[in-house]
Amino acid sequence: MKLTRAENNLALYHRGESMKSTEVQALREILLAEKSALINESLKNLFTEEVSVEVRGDSADKVASEQNQDLEVKFKERQRLKVQEIDGALARIANASFGECLSCSEPIGLKRLQARPTAKYCIDCMENLDQRNTKYI
Ligand SMILES: [Zn+2]
Repeated sequence: MKLTRAENNLALYHRGESMKSTEVQALREILLAEKSALINESLKNLFTEEVSVEVRGDSADKVASEQNQDLEVKFKERQRLKVQEIDGALARIANASFGECLSCSEPIGLKRLQARPTAKYCIDCMENLDQRNTKYI
């Protein structure tokens, strides 16, 4: 039998596992602060970016410069994904599904959310996912 969201929330409430709105608010503040830090950081990078793409015909230099660019692309991609994760968590706060595991609908747990407010899965589901795909944690 699958519980409706309201029934599920009520069950969580009675088990004392539902989060208080002040706790959710505190996590929302953290997420918003993290997001603006990330955006500031990428803006800063945008303006201080060195024009180091200098190819002197030396193949070793060329490789090094390509590797740097590669790292930079990866770094930017990671920042973009982080902002996306934060936006996802903020959206879940807005539609009141925050704190529920996306896989099994069980509560993720306040401690885990405080350590990682963007967590989408409970620790059990996360471990299952990790075993299948250790590349993206
Ligand atoms: Zn789960």
